[in-house]
Amino acid sequence: MTNSDTIFTSTLDIEKLRKDFPILQTKVYGKPLVYFDNAATTQKPLSVLKNLEDYYKNYNSNVHRGVHLLSQQATDAYEQARKKVAAFINAAHDYEIIFTKGTTNSINLVASSFGKRFLTTGDEVLISEMEHHSNIVPWQLICEEKNAALKIIPVDNNGELIMEEFDRLLTEKVKIVALTYVSNTLGTVNPVRNIIQKAHAKNIPVLLDAAQAIQHIPIDVQELDADFMAFSSHKMFGPTGAGILYGKEKYLNAMPPYEGGGDMIKNVTFAKTTYNELPFKFEAGTPDMSGAIGLGAAIDYIQQTGIHAIQHAEEELIAYAYDQLSAIPSLRFIGNAKHRAGAISFLVGNIHPFDMGEILDKQGIAVRTGHHCTQPLMERFSIPGTVRASFSVYNTKNEVDALIKGIEKARKMLE
Ligand code: PMP
Repeated sequence: MTNSDTIFTSTLDIEKLRKDFPILQTKVYGKPLVYFDNAATTQKPLSVLKNLEDYYKNYNSNVHRGVHLLSQQATDAYEQARKKVAAFINAAHDYEIIFTKGTTNSINLVASSFGKRFLTTGDEVLISEMEHHSNIVPWQLICEEKNAALKIIPVDNNGELIMEEFDRLLTEKVKIVALTYVSNTLGTVNPVRNIIQKAHAKNIPVLLDAAQAIQHIPIDVQELDADFMAFSSHKMFGPTGAGILYGKEKYLNAMPPYEGGGDMIKNVTFAKTTYNELPFKFEAGTPDMSGAIGLGAAIDYIQQTGIHAIQHAEEELIAYAYDQLSAIPSLRFIGNAKHRAGAISFLVGNIHPFDMGEILDKQGIAVRTGHHCTQPLMERFSIPGTVRASFSVYNTKNEVDALIKGIEKARKMLE
């Protein structure tokens, strides 16, 4: 933690910070919006909105292909955004940052491309029981194609990985471990450092799905020694449609292109096409320029606020929410991990999550209900879904109090 972060930690003024997010002033059914659906997508600060407007108003142009001024300005801004991402996660090289459409796209890229190069009959891919569908299905697709097997690290009743099972499953047959850093449903923060160390001891690379970590936890990919990492712009105050795949140079260079098209080639003839160098080899076609540049602005916003300060404020708020929710008699948490970030999932008595979600909505409180794209995890807990409150740095204790009141109202109506 740097000194400036320490100062921010004690001085982060949430009421002031909320003014950066115009949508937080919105009323829903005449009630102030309480937005607790941040794991699905976060709201955007004015600086990001202005950045997008500036791009389209002043220098919208296709990147990489033009000699004219606007194209150069767009290219510079796009490449600048790549540098910001690289610095934010401390990648060794800018060209290890691939712009994608989002986490789903990033994981599909690795599953398909790494899989084509490195998977063969009898190999295994190791994931966990708490993965989002986007870190399950791409691996199922490639495993089917390559006659490889998908192995699953189970979770215990608290929603934590059973590490003895991980140790047992981590055999020489495993060619890659693909794991979520933070569970979008349970909020569990997984011991990824330990997992990466153990996998590397057997020369097995690790992909981290950081969709729910990047906005809550400082991440240094070199220090963690992650081999791949995927995340989405829209979950970290940036625009939709853009995301990142970080990959170590040695793997990205060894993998075949994922998509073919413009920009990813060095030379095309009908007889043979050669491919561009990193990162362009994996960026076929016109990229989401405004999305990438907007993500750069979102990273500026996070850097100015301080990721350590954000983490500290959120941890305090989650601890408060957890305490308040614990006092509700018939409420049971789904997931009780010691180390959590972002989200809290729960069920109240026998109230169906959808009914709870609707009653809360009428009070202006946005939560998400259902399986959260983690159906195998729902099966593990023998439940159809949960109510999930997920937090961002702009949420307040008053909003948590509104949630508690809303739940009490639902209990009176439905229990
Ligand atoms: N992984 C996790 C853990 C997620 O929470 C999400 C989004 N809910 C995704 C992957 C997919 O992200 P996106 O839809 O932005 O591609």
